[in-house]
Amino acid sequence: MKLQELSQKAMMREAMLYEPLASGKVRCELCRHYCVIADGRDGICRVRANVGGTLYTLVYGRAIAANVDPIEKKPLFHFHPGSRSYSIATAGCNFQCAFCQNWDISQMPKGGRRLAGRWFPPEAVVAAALATGCASIAYTYTEPTIFFEYAYDTAQLAHEAGLKNVFVSNGYMTEKALRRIAPYLDAINVDVKGFSEARYKRVMKARLQPVLESLHVIKALGIWLEVTTLVIPTISDDEAGLRGIAAAIVDLDAGTPWHVTQFHPDYRLTELPRTPLETLQRARHLGLDAGLRYVYCGNVPGEEGENTFCWGCGALLIERWGYRTKVIGLREGACGRCGSKIDGAGLP
Ligand code: SF4
Repeated sequence: MKLQELSQKAMMREAMLYEPLASGKVRCELCRHYCVIADGRDGICRVRANVGGTLYTLVYGRAIAANVDPIEKKPLFHFHPGSRSYSIATAGCNFQCAFCQNWDISQMPKGGRRLAGRWFPPEAVVAAALATGCASIAYTYTEPTIFFEYAYDTAQLAHEAGLKNVFVSNGYMTEKALRRIAPYLDAINVDVKGFSEARYKRVMKARLQPVLESLHVIKALGIWLEVTTLVIPTISDDEAGLRGIAAAIVDLDAGTPWHVTQFHPDYRLTELPRTPLETLQRARHLGLDAGLRYVYCGNVPGEEGENTFCWGCGALLIERWGYRTKVIGLREGACGRCGSKIDGAGLP
């Protein structure tokens, strides 16, 4: 068998978390779509297929992207600040966001297009992360839930090698999936893309409630959590929606950082403008007024709202310019001036 054939075979692995049903169908239990898939068909993400009553992932070890990124790019601002994260993805996603900024890889399997990616097995990912001086591996760019088996095996090896693991996710995984990965998952950034079920359905082809439920499960499992909202003009920039998200995070834990980030026109939303800076600043202040300790403006280098301030006395603790980070006021995870404990994991 040729090398290419061998790697193609390796990329097709029996899936984790599914249930066989009557008449050869299977029910995938990885994400809240709970796809019921007939023999010979695939799920909404198009990277899990039923072959003869067995569910397979089609993207095991099939990396479509691999880069060294600052952890701030995820964004995770309260998790080992200033460190590097080895970032991988496969093609595919369980959402179909009209504004996706990685649509070329997330929507690749749709419309019958060929699944691209190179064979990059878990042990090679961990070796590359170590060789490039990364502190963690990030499962990112597309939705890690849809390449769960690849992420799970890599995360296990990463922990054995002393590396951390982080997900950048839409939060649509099942509680079962979260509980399975939890022993190896150190941090996660979840996108809350709006606060309206109708909009989640229309723009993302998904539901909001499961995402909000995931936030609670993540907290209960002790995984470090940060939340991101892409503030899109006319879609997710309304004050009521932003207040709703802020209140939901306060209800969860006021120490959970919230990133309100700038939209730039992409994919199917090219007619909309970039989010004005004033809108982001308004969203940030609205979050702080709601009681959140840390609210950040994202994708706007040089903006004051990128910095971390002490929630107790207002001292500047971490200065940022884009992805450049300078820790200036932290002492053993607390404010150097007033001693308030700063929420986070791996803070200096
Ligand atoms: S991971 Fe894919 S196949 Fe499984 S339920 Fe979600 S969309 Fe469906």
